[in-house]
Amino acid sequence: MAKEQLHCSFCGRPKAETNILIAGIDSHICDRCVEQATSIVSEEARAASKQKSISGLKQYKPQEIKNFLDEYVIGQDQTKKVLAVAVYNHYKRLQQVSKDDVEIQKSNIIMVGQTGTGKTLMAKTIAKLLDVPLAIVDATVLTEAGYVGEDVESMLTRLLQAADYNVEKAEKGIVFIDEIDKIARKSDNPSITRDVSGEGVQQALLKLLEGTVVNVPPKGGRKHPDQKFVEVNTENILFIAGGAFDGIDRIISKRLNMQAVGYSASISDHQIDKGNLLKYIIPKDLKDFGMIPEVLGRLPVLTHLDPLDKETLRSILTEPKNALVKQYQRLFELDDITLVIKEEALDYIVEKAIEYKLGARGLRSLCEVVLTDAMFEMPGSDEQLLEVNKEYASRKLSKTLLKELKAAS
Ligand code: ADP
Repeated sequence: MAKEQLHCSFCGRPKAETNILIAGIDSHICDRCVEQATSIVSEEARAASKQKSISGLKQYKPQEIKNFLDEYVIGQDQTKKVLAVAVYNHYKRLQQVSKDDVEIQKSNIIMVGQTGTGKTLMAKTIAKLLDVPLAIVDATVLTEAGYVGEDVESMLTRLLQAADYNVEKAEKGIVFIDEIDKIARKSDNPSITRDVSGEGVQQALLKLLEGTVVNVPPKGGRKHPDQKFVEVNTENILFIAGGAFDGIDRIISKRLNMQAVGYSASISDHQIDKGNLLKYIIPKDLKDFGMIPEVLGRLPVLTHLDPLDKETLRSILTEPKNALVKQYQRLFELDDITLVIKEEALDYIVEKAIEYKLGARGLRSLCEVVLTDAMFEMPGSDEQLLEVNKEYASRKLSKTLLKELKAAS
């Protein structure tokens, strides 16, 4: 082919009208067509990756979610079911293609239960299963913008950090707000004096819970004009709030008694499980506790955790996939030592956890106290077996130590 006749095989421009004409085997392409083709390729790739990242979210059926929770969390069956359904619906909502006006609302969750009953553990386990970033934030540090403390946006800073600053990932993550009860309105009388860390924070939370685009300072701290912000859309972020709501049983009991007196009694007095009033909780009880109705409306899934009884504490020691005993056995195994903890010793540890009101969290401290001497002395020695019986455990858990543990809990 004569040189003067060369032209772009895509747009037909003669060589003279191009900056560069690149030769292929039987054809040529000009610089403009290369640019155009590149932008088409990257556009397609972006669209494909967006699609993939939505569908890339692992899809689990509610029963699969519950089964996974069962591996790590003992008991709390009702809560597991409620959570499994809420989480399933939440992520199904992300994948819905809007065909008509039916827009599925978010299913943010509020969990009520004594401290140490597994609220954080549930949120962590779900995030692990779904492989989404999780931020655990403490509501006690939150204050209204402009006051000493953290703005509510700081939750999203944490989520961004958990997502390695990948905004798209963060926008599908989970925020666990611990101690939500601490931002309850302090009195029933809507503020004469300003309630900086209570109602004000609840108001600030509203938009985040519902879904909005927030300017988030990626490194945290207060917003100031020079700081670069990252825009985060909270529409698809799942918020799970948890709190002990100390004293709420009185509110529940009062309501139940009033119902029992009135004709509309749905649960008669003798049927009420007085040992676990939380199972009758309804949103109104949380409102009476000091949560504002708007916040409750945006946390539509309400569930409770049962207090941990002796059997549950005993199972927590050995049954979960990463149960405490299994963890200690692994630690010893790494030093070629076999750790055997006798049933009687485990029962003893549980008894002490109950006696000193240490809860599930205390189990770890108790095991630590029982095993510390051995973990210090045995590595490097010739001993290859540690058998812990009741006598051994009680020798390590002296009264003074137990009192110290209680004071520290
Ligand atoms: P909460 O958030 O309700 O205060 P956590 O979820 O932080 O309590 O629980 C504290 C620890 O106690 C957990 O890390 C876990 O080891 C143990 N734990 C509590 N409840 C359970 C449970 N139901 N099943 C298994 N472990 C539990």
